Amino acid sequence: MHDILPADSALWHRLEAVACSVFSRYGFQEIRVPILEKTEVFTRAIGTATDVVEKEMYSFEDRNGESLSLRPEGTAGVVRAALQNGLLYGQPVRLWYGGPMFRYERPQKGRTRQFHQLGAEVFGAEGPDVDAELIRMGERIWSEMGLEDFRLEINSLGTAAERSAYKEHLVSFLHAHADQLDEDSQRRVERNPLRVLDSKDKGVQELLAEAPQLGDFLGENSRRHFDGVCSLLTRLGVGFQVNQRLVRGLDYYSHTVFEWITDELGAQGTVCAGGRYDGLIELQGGKPWPGIGFAMGQERLVELLRLKDNTQPTVPHVYLVMLGSGTKTEGLALAEELRGDISGLRVLSHSGSGSFRSQFKRADRSGAALALVLGEEELANGQVVVKRLREHLPQETLPRNELSRWLRDWLAKQV
Ligand code: ATP
Ligand code: MG
Repeated sequence: MHDILPADSALWHRLEAVACSVFSRYGFQEIRVPILEKTEVFTRAIGTATDVVEKEMYSFEDRNGESLSLRPEGTAGVVRAALQNGLLYGQPVRLWYGGPMFRYERPQKGRTRQFHQLGAEVFGAEGPDVDAELIRMGERIWSEMGLEDFRLEINSLGTAAERSAYKEHLVSFLHAHADQLDEDSQRRVERNPLRVLDSKDKGVQELLAEAPQLGDFLGENSRRHFDGVCSLLTRLGVGFQVNQRLVRGLDYYSHTVFEWITDELGAQGTVCAGGRYDGLIELQGGKPWPGIGFAMGQERLVELLRLKDNTQPTVPHVYLVMLGSGTKTEGLALAEELRGDISGLRVLSHSGSGSFRSQFKRADRSGAALALVLGEEELANGQVVVKRLREHLPQETLPRNELSRWLRDWLAKQV
């Protein structure tokens, strides 16, 4: 579990601001759900034969003997909340959420035990139009963040019945080649055979080239849905590759599944994953109702932003230097006045005491562009000195009542 330090917070803010803006332009509203839920919310929704529930959840008993878990993902809790608060079964609803998720995984590059996701869900729309729109919305988030080169892979998982017919064929194929399976895959054949398709083992990957393909088991409706998604994406100008082996780690998906992948992060290159989960709401105790959504991994996206290094950390515009009797009181009042007068101006006033020299040293280290100096003489004359810390320009002495206008003009010229 990592700390997010001040040097990175501007990147996090930027990602969240862009996502929030794009979500709202597509009609999504935010929902905030608890980080802790009854364990059954996740076991029911995610399925006991998944990595997440089998070995990744942080579960414990509370003082009442009830099993609770830190959320490993967002969808299950959002569905629980939507059901409980009567948000479903009218017209389609569009919700987004964000925040920390917890999985007891082997920590490695791009994989931590606390990580953050931003996700979007649409309930009540059968698609394929909304499937394509949701995918296009993700692409807009990447492009508005200046991240252009993600690959989109999509697949169809069909219906539960189609998948179970396919599973039978897959399992007998895998049994026939059991000697070529690594240990992890052998366990998956018995518990959750579709997950074998997702194996990262090289030998298994080669074997899978010969395996039966899920696409051959789709019925007419599933095929039509998937073709619909593909042709809409083409019309919207979204490039994609069909990957027949793309399955989701979570069991509640049906029909469309997709992943956005980058080659710049090594092995953990999936930055966003999603799909349709028409069976989930029923699993959570509601009447059947369609759903589709995705979740993006914020750490991975922030890492990409960091590689591009095009966001400056937030520094003050102005550092206020005060020295001499009465200047502290008036200085703090002046700082308040400026923060109130000039929208967006970042003012850092010197705290504690110190000579001019040491205050200027701090001003320089703060990254501020300007120092405002209030000494006894300025105080007596109703003036403030403005000194540029990053440019060779003469200092200016301004009457205090002109300072706000001067700073407002100066700020307007900053990029
Ligand atoms: P994998 O098969 O790689 O474990 P997953 O199916 O567990 O993936 P999802 O549950 O679909 O992943 O999560 C969506 C996204 O959240 C991932 O694509 C990734 O960007 C991010 N993510 C998931 N787990 C972690 C983690 N432990 N650390 C950082 N990011 C994560
Ligand atoms: Mg995982």
